[in-house]
Amino acid sequence: MTSPQVILATHELVKDFQGFRAVDGVGLEVVEGTVHALVGPNGAGKTTLFNLLTGFLAPTSGRVTLGERDIGGRPPEHIAQLGVARSFQVTSLFEGLTAREHVELALQAVVGGGHRFWRSERLLRRFSARAAELLAEVGLAALAEQPAGSLPYGRKRALELALALALDPKVLLLDEPTAGMGLEDVDRTVALIDRVRAGRTVVMVEHNMSVVGSLADTVTVLQHGQVLVQGPYETVRGDPRVVEAYLGADVA
Ligand code: ADP
Ligand code: MG
Repeated sequence: MTSPQVILATHELVKDFQGFRAVDGVGLEVVEGTVHALVGPNGAGKTTLFNLLTGFLAPTSGRVTLGERDIGGRPPEHIAQLGVARSFQVTSLFEGLTAREHVELALQAVVGGGHRFWRSERLLRRFSARAAELLAEVGLAALAEQPAGSLPYGRKRALELALALALDPKVLLLDEPTAGMGLEDVDRTVALIDRVRAGRTVVMVEHNMSVVGSLADTVTVLQHGQVLVQGPYETVRGDPRVVEAYLGADVA
């Protein structure tokens, strides 16, 4: 047995927005192969932390490390190439492109060439087999030819997950993967995350405590940009500070 490896970490991480400290000295340790949930009330700094982990924001101070590498402030495409992929809290699809086209373009972007081969039919066909696999993995095989704009909300989120998976990431970051979903889609998404976590590390912002309970090995509770509690789900759930912080509060 080797000891658990920390794959993604932050050290005294700070992010200021015009004098407002949204992330305030966060130390996070994500162990390889685990599902790590970030919870906390609205405005706690969860999305900002995600943006710092994935290069969409540069830290004001402090460090972000992936394995031994300091990745703080590196551009998002560089961090993605190192194996960190994310989904967004707000959906960001092209209405008119089909589910299949979305995944093919994502695969094409990974292989390189950037936008040079944009919409070259012949090259896109190369990716169609892998795209079909990914669509099946997220339960969208039957909807592959639907324009993304016509997909029900839950299916749009599933498509976004397929786009993140197209990067074949070591670390998958999911920002509120079940937000706005009905019960059926929530169950489907939990099953999906449980499947795609194999061989990966997952960090997710999640407000639904039953989702956190069924998926997360470790939970970090953020409040006012700081870590309130961090530990195994069972321990965190019963922590008096957490109970107090969330009594009557909107945990998201
Ligand atoms: P959460 O995802 O936990 O709800 P956010 O990370 O989105 O919280 O926001 C944390 C705090 O930082 C909030 O008070 C928010 O208003 C503020 N904030 C987030 N992004 C910006 C920004 N780009 N400019 C100014 N303030 C921001
Ligand atoms: Mg958020």
